[in-house]
Amino acid sequence: MAHPKTERTLVLIKPDGIQRSLIGEIIGRYERAGLKLVGLKMCVPTKEHIEKHYTLDPAWRQVTGEKTIKGYESKGLTPPSRDPIEITARILAGLKKYLSCGPVVALALQGAHSVAIVRKITGGTEPLTSDVGTIRGDFVLDSYQMSDTDGRAVRNLVHASGSVKEAEAELAHWFTKEELMNYRLIGEQILYDVNLDGLLE
Ligand code: ADP
Ligand code: MG
Repeated sequence: MAHPKTERTLVLIKPDGIQRSLIGEIIGRYERAGLKLVGLKMCVPTKEHIEKHYTLDPAWRQVTGEKTIKGYESKGLTPPSRDPIEITARILAGLKKYLSCGPVVALALQGAHSVAIVRKITGGTEPLTSDVGTIRGDFVLDSYQMSDTDGRAVRNLVHASGSVKEAEAELAHWFTKEELMNYRLIGEQILYDVNLDGLLE
């Protein structure tokens, strides 16, 4: 089995993250947790590329629709539809517009439990309820109610892979093998070395 420190995940800084001049802040939050940047690029994705990205996981439509319905109900609000698939059809149309409206930055991050650590630092999908201290909780203020009323995607600054399997598929969708770096970061020694010898002179 591969060592946990080799786990990789995908982050996209969405167009609102770029426009808010948060690229450095966002990358810094992941870096300072000990994660290693192993891939980095800026591009304007096509609508086809975005649709593929969100439908790589066949369960995404159902799960995201259900999450939205729960988000409404937990606030005592009525969801726009009771059908999760109908909800995600609208969300996907909004996402294609949102993510192709300007440049995005794609990041590949590596480190132990990188998928879960990145999700924790990123925060929950809806900025209204994402925890303070997370990227989505600290830097933006959107809600399902506002975005659905306005007929657009929730603006939450970043995308982060939801599982190890999703991360593998998404990394292959955004990066070629050659674009992903294999290198040693000096700071990794204090995170992963078993013996910690060689520190004292
Ligand atoms: P996450 O990005 O946290 O993994 P999902 O995979 O469930 O969230 O949804 C993908 C993206 O779709 C979200 O980041 C958000 O931009 C948008 N989105 C999700 N639910 C809604 C909704 N109910 N209305 C509008 N946009 C949504
Ligand atoms: Mg997701």
